[in-house]
Amino acid sequence: MKRNLLLLVSALFLFSSSSFYAQPPIKKPLTQSVKSESKEAKHDKDEHHDAEEEHSHAISIDEVLKGNDNFRANVRKNQDFDKQREELSKGQKPHTIVVACSDSRVCPEIVLDNGLGEIFVVRTAGNVVDSVALGSIEYAAEHLHSQNLVIMGHTSCGAVTAALSGETESPYINSIIRNIQPAVKFAKNKKADKNKTLNLAIEENVRNQIKMIKKSKIIAELTKEGHLNIVGCVYHLDTGEITYVK
Ligand SMILES: [Zn+2]
Repeated sequence: MKRNLLLLVSALFLFSSSSFYAQPPIKKPLTQSVKSESKEAKHDKDEHHDAEEEHSHAISIDEVLKGNDNFRANVRKNQDFDKQREELSKGQKPHTIVVACSDSRVCPEIVLDNGLGEIFVVRTAGNVVDSVALGSIEYAAEHLHSQNLVIMGHTSCGAVTAALSGETESPYINSIIRNIQPAVKFAKNKKADKNKTLNLAIEENVRNQIKMIKKSKIIAELTKEGHLNIVGCVYHLDTGEITYVK
């Protein structure tokens, strides 16, 4: 009887030991950082922790704009679209939001040499930020944890040129023009020649759109806490260069 009991205990021990060692190893997500690994055990699925993890992949605006060097040198970084599609089907984590004009010559992904899933793009004529555009920006900044926001105007912008000429018959185009009017007023007051006035209006329009974006409480808070950097710039159609707007 005693022997049978001993055999039973041994069998149970062996069973429990073998099932312990048979546990599959815990797979670490591809995007998980070393920094966040130890915290995860303590704060599983903690929202704040998730935000920290996202920000641990920070990339500066200067680094983002370095992609423009490749574009101007007529080279592109290696893109493995098969691999990118596979990884990104699980979710997106764009490091930068770009607000640009809808102009067919100003494609943020191309002029900044980005692949899939790297930048969250909002495009409207004249890079005008209305309530829908601002909602899109808020979504990317708050929920996708993008760390940079680039407002990109461009030289010879048709929308700004139209705003300098006055309103049209279309109420829809006029809604764009009215948004740009404060920049036009600022530029005309400088009493410069036609080209200079257009360039001044393009730059001032970038500053005005940034002011509009900063009206968002979500954006203001993320900026104040250092989670979001905002920069204005102009893309030059002839050279491909991107210059900062102060
Ligand atoms: Zn434009």
